[in-house]
Amino acid sequence: MRQTIEFRIGEEDARRHLPPDLGMPLGDSLRKIVLPINDGQVQRIAQLDSDYRKKDDCFFTYWHIHRKYTEEELESAELLDLVVRTYFEPTGSMCGTEYDESVACKHCGAGARQTGPLILNTTRVSKNKDIAQTIAGEVIVSSRFVAAFQEHGLRGAEFRPVLHRGRNATRPSEWYQPVFTSKPLKLDAKTVAGNNPFDLDARDEHRCPKGHVAGLNQISELYVKRASHDGGDLCITDKLFGVRRGELRPEPRLLISPKLRDVLAGMNAKGYVLEVAHFV
Ligand SMILES: [Zn+2]
Repeated sequence: MRQTIEFRIGEEDARRHLPPDLGMPLGDSLRKIVLPINDGQVQRIAQLDSDYRKKDDCFFTYWHIHRKYTEEELESAELLDLVVRTYFEPTGSMCGTEYDESVACKHCGAGARQTGPLILNTTRVSKNKDIAQTIAGEVIVSSRFVAAFQEHGLRGAEFRPVLHRGRNATRPSEWYQPVFTSKPLKLDAKTVAGNNPFDLDARDEHRCPKGHVAGLNQISELYVKRASHDGGDLCITDKLFGVRRGELRPEPRLLISPKLRDVLAGMNAKGYVLEVAHFV
């Protein structure tokens, strides 16, 4: 596995502190820099950000860790983190999906219960995708996905029809919402979560005291307890990542079996990438 980290840094700040040939410009005012995670410049950027934060500022405005695997690594994995890469808006609640917020956790806002069908503007999903999600963490899958899942006798989720609501009346859509019937996988403490790779939220500002939210962002690969796996091919983690703010909701991670990995590869499913996850 090869890990790189991408930063976006204001051009003026980058010019002041970093070599001029590091990264590439994104427009006039932003620079994109991708580095191996153990590159010396990464530590320098982390230090600069830490200095900026003491002045209530930040050096980088975006970061993302990319993990690149060999075919063999993905082939031999016992469990895989299904990372949805197709996002769309508006969210379910903006389209009329109802949530009972009264049951949500007072600390982290997790656990609001969806009380009706998922209603979305499904014309907003990019064409030819098989899995997508809103910024509120509402995951949907294509009818093709559901057919393949059922045809292969896979376990771990039922699929409920998603309703489409655009400008006109509500109507059925080609999309389904997975409702997880597998036991949630218990997230192991080996999983690193935090605000960013250099700020692991030592003050627990984004961790729920009741344990619902592990942190703002997933930093490492996922580690889950083997004893909590009921054999499901599609599972979620028990702990969530993210924050309840505006339309954002903390969301679990999706994990799949090698069997489902092969089914998705066989149908050339689109809209996700895979990372290796680990049983402990
Ligand atoms: Zn909570």
